[in-house]
Amino acid sequence: MTERTSGARQLAAAWADLVATARRTAAEGLVVGTSGNVSVRVGELVLITPSGVPYHRLGPDDTVAVDLEGRQVVGTLKPTSELPLHLAAYRATPAAAVVHTHALHATAVSTLVPELPPVHYMAADLGGPVRVAPYALFGTPELAEGMLRALRGRTACLLQNHGAVSYGDTLDQAYDRTAQLEWMCRLWLTAHAVPGHTPSVLSPVELAAAGEQLRGYGQGR
Ligand code: 13P
Ligand code: ZN
Repeated sequence: MTERTSGARQLAAAWADLVATARRTAAEGLVVGTSGNVSVRVGELVLITPSGVPYHRLGPDDTVAVDLEGRQVVGTLKPTSELPLHLAAYRATPAAAVVHTHALHATAVSTLVPELPPVHYMAADLGGPVRVAPYALFGTPELAEGMLRALRGRTACLLQNHGAVSYGDTLDQAYDRTAQLEWMCRLWLTAHAVPGHTPSVLSPVELAAAGEQLRGYGQGR
């Protein structure tokens, strides 16, 4: 196989994974319509969902790839309006995949507090208590900058009055983090809504211990 063919195959496989992940965000209720966006890094390229196109319509011929400066290298469909946010994540964090959603409970929490209280040990999997980036217009560098500040030492954050962002080493990991964050937001909202009670939260020491335990969890990471 020539180098060019194997590169093309790698891109095609990564695009198929990206489309499957984007469809999951809709199928599993983390977005409605064309909200949210997904990207994955392949070498010096970033494959990314096009703006405003329903995920079920995306096929192999709709591949969109940009370089790390945002110049379009593959495809004719316009990349997501949140391109600055995705590129900022690749430039400033170890992200290999980024998932942005408007998940209901995550977005609700983003309107209530500057940080999701750590009511569950799974916060440790995201690096600690999840911060909320201040509101900024979607698609702007200001939103991307606020996200980067909220992501310091974390693999996920909330965007005030907007949604959630997470990243990972793979699309599956970035997706799972978004789903866990949505679940934790739902948990906090549920516990917080019980009249006359305040949910207990985990201390930094407890979270650090959970993070350590998670490193050996399952079949090894
Ligand atoms: P796109 O359709 O341009 O990806 O925008 C959706 C979105 O979530 C903007 O924040
Ligand atoms: Zn959005």
